[in-house]
Amino acid sequence: MKTALVLGAGGFIGNHLVNSLKKEGFWVRGVDLKFPEYSSSRADNFLISDLKKLSLVKEALCSPKQKSLKRDSPQSKFSSKDSFDEVYQLAADMGGAGFIFSGENDANIMHNSALINLNVCKMAIKYKAKKIFYASSACIYPQQNQMDPKNPNCSEDSAYPANPDSEYGWEKLFSERMFIAFHRNYGLNIRIARFHNIFGPEGSYAGGREKAPAAFCRKVALANNGDEIEMWGDGEQTRSFLFIDECLRGIRKLMDSAYTFPLNIGSEEMVSINTLAKITMKLANKNLKINHISGPLGVKGRKSDNNLIKEKLNWEPSYSLKKGLEKTYPWVLNQINKSKK
Ligand code: NAD
Repeated sequence: MKTALVLGAGGFIGNHLVNSLKKEGFWVRGVDLKFPEYSSSRADNFLISDLKKLSLVKEALCSPKQKSLKRDSPQSKFSSKDSFDEVYQLAADMGGAGFIFSGENDANIMHNSALINLNVCKMAIKYKAKKIFYASSACIYPQQNQMDPKNPNCSEDSAYPANPDSEYGWEKLFSERMFIAFHRNYGLNIRIARFHNIFGPEGSYAGGREKAPAAFCRKVALANNGDEIEMWGDGEQTRSFLFIDECLRGIRKLMDSAYTFPLNIGSEEMVSINTLAKITMKLANKNLKINHISGPLGVKGRKSDNNLIKEKLNWEPSYSLKKGLEKTYPWVLNQINKSKK
């Protein structure tokens, strides 16, 4: 049976990834500071661990087979045949715009996530992980290429000269480079995805770390017809959003390919935040007014550029934003109704 390790398995994408690996027939170990918030993990083994601590990363990367061999023969060297077949590094200190762009969490974001990635690279070599996936972000792209909301450039080769608009983006770029350096110097078998706004059921929808789609689902669900909801900025800033199922499909395709450079996993369907709010209202059958207030915004425009993924993986996401919201809105509504009881 193939084995997989998911770091960040208590998070939104990590928990969905564990489910999909289980469906594929993997034995899965999940690791996180916490269990998933909205459903129980299907991982065969779940470690509650702080991956900032090297000793706990060591424990996480040591496969069950390696652990039993070491117990029987403490001097024996680790062999790649007993190591995890697939390792997914998704653990990070992250959140939506309110968390990333306020400036208040910069030191922790950089320190915590870099420390996790430093530890993971080192231990992936020690325990000879066969293949490792790193979750990078669209936030690495230079801000000057994303000033025009109608025409942003996020092609993979536009990442340099680097100028991300957040410390979160700088840390992701540093860690991409570190994974690539471990590939170059130690032969670490890497895959790197730059995710663009992934959303879907079981993502944070309140509390400050939620992303725009979940935040609007919550605001619309809580409002009565004719009410006013708040939006940061004039709503003309643009983004693209990718439904979780398509993200998982992209991860599998990338893992099964031989491509070892960063690749966008995102949608090319670019909408303004006003449009995102309107689609959500229409789904909920509510007519609401928007009160534009000041708040952290990020770049003016961003969408995935899928030319490279089409070329390298012969695939690109095709799920529409509306279809994704049709699955996400009822889930958020249900959570809100449950919390009222
Ligand atoms: P998430 O916050 O739901 O999941 C991240 C998980 O990492 C959390 O469960 C958190 O508890 C865990 N974690 C943080 N610090 C840890 C530590 N010290 N030890 C162990 N676990 C720790 O985020 P997500 O949306 O599932 O994103 C997963 C990955 O994808 C992250 O690396 C994120 O930066 C990246 N990403 C996500 C998006 C998106 O739209 N969701 C976009 C770009 C990149």
